[in-house]
Amino acid sequence: MKKKKKISARKLIKSLRNRAKKLWRQRVLERWNNKCVICGSTKLPNCHHIVPKETFILLRYDPINGIVLCPKHHKFNKFSAHKNPLWFVSMLVKLMKAHELEHLLTTMEKIVPFEYKLGVNEYIQIIDNLNKESKDGKKIS
Ligand SMILES: [Zn+2]
Repeated sequence: MKKKKKISARKLIKSLRNRAKKLWRQRVLERWNNKCVICGSTKLPNCHHIVPKETFILLRYDPINGIVLCPKHHKFNKFSAHKNPLWFVSMLVKLMKAHELEHLLTTMEKIVPFEYKLGVNEYIQIIDNLNKESKDGKKIS
């Protein structure tokens, strides 16, 4: 009997994570029409996590937690998401719907066990949801 090639759990998780990241970025770009929400630039669009992805794992792959910014409005200008949080929040309040902000705030409050890590099943669910959320139903390969 031929032995099946085994893929290590770590490699599988890594490839699922890359897939989820790619799909999240695609959904965020679609949501904001592929351009910086501040200046409309389409050059090097950055997808910025509104709520930090490191500390709020439940929002890491949530398209509502993403916004498109050019590099200047993302990190480099004195008016940018990273350099000027108060200004950025004032922009978010103008740009986002109240229920979307509410969704981010309530999800942030959910308690997640310390050192919680996403497993294969969670990633599969996330990828499935991100695929479903595509506006035109187009799959990304
Ligand atoms: Zn910009």
